[in-house]
Amino acid sequence: MHRALLAFAQTLLIEPRCPICDGPWDSPLPPTAPCSTCLDRLALPLKGLKGLLPLPWSALGPYAGPLRKLLLQVRQPRQGKALAALVQLLSERLPLPATAVLVPIPSWKRQRSNPLPQQIALGLGRPTAALLRRTRAGLSQHHLNKTQCQTNLIGAFQASPLNKQRALSSVWLVDDILTTGSTALAARQALEEAGHRVAGLICLGRTPARERRR
Ligand SMILES: [Zn+2]
Repeated sequence: MHRALLAFAQTLLIEPRCPICDGPWDSPLPPTAPCSTCLDRLALPLKGLKGLLPLPWSALGPYAGPLRKLLLQVRQPRQGKALAALVQLLSERLPLPATAVLVPIPSWKRQRSNPLPQQIALGLGRPTAALLRRTRAGLSQHHLNKTQCQTNLIGAFQASPLNKQRALSSVWLVDDILTTGSTALAARQALEEAGHRVAGLICLGRTPARERRR
C-alpha cells in the first residue's frame, strides 16, 4: 500500500516532458501538445491545409520534411503520446462539423497493418464507425501509376449498409497520409453505394504534388 502511494506521489513530481521530443516542458498549454521547439521545427501551417481534389480533404500539414519524419516515427510501437499530440493539433486546427462521423480507412496488409487511421479517429474523440472492410488484399500500390492504382482499387472495399436509425449524412474518412487519393476514392465509392454520404477526408499529412507518383 505504502509503495503504491509512493509510486503515485512520484508520478505527480515528475516534470512534464514534451510528448514528441521528450524535452522539458516549456509551454503554458497542457503537456499533451508539442513543445514550442517541436512546433517551430515542424513549422505546420496554423490553420492546416485544405483542398477539394480528388475529394474534399483537411490535413495538419504537407507530408514532407520534419512532419514526414515524425509520421514515419509514430508508426513504430510506443509512440502513442507523439501521435496523440499530433491528433490534438489536428482537432484544434481543423475542427470537424458537429455532425461528423469518422470512418477509418482499413489497412491493406494483414500482417503489420497500419494502425494509424483507427488511432487517429479514436484520438479525434468523435463518433467513429468501422464501416469499411477490404474485400481483397489488392496488389501493392508501390509500382503502379495513377490509372493502374485506381483500377487496382475498384471493388477493394465493402461498406456496411446504412443504418436507418442513424443515417450517416456526414462521413469523414480518416487516414494518416493522403497521396493520390485513389484509396480514398475507392472507400468513398463503397460507402456511397451502401447509402452513406461522404463529406471528405481528414489526415495528418498531404503528399506534396511533385511527389504524388502513386
Ligand atoms: Zn518537443
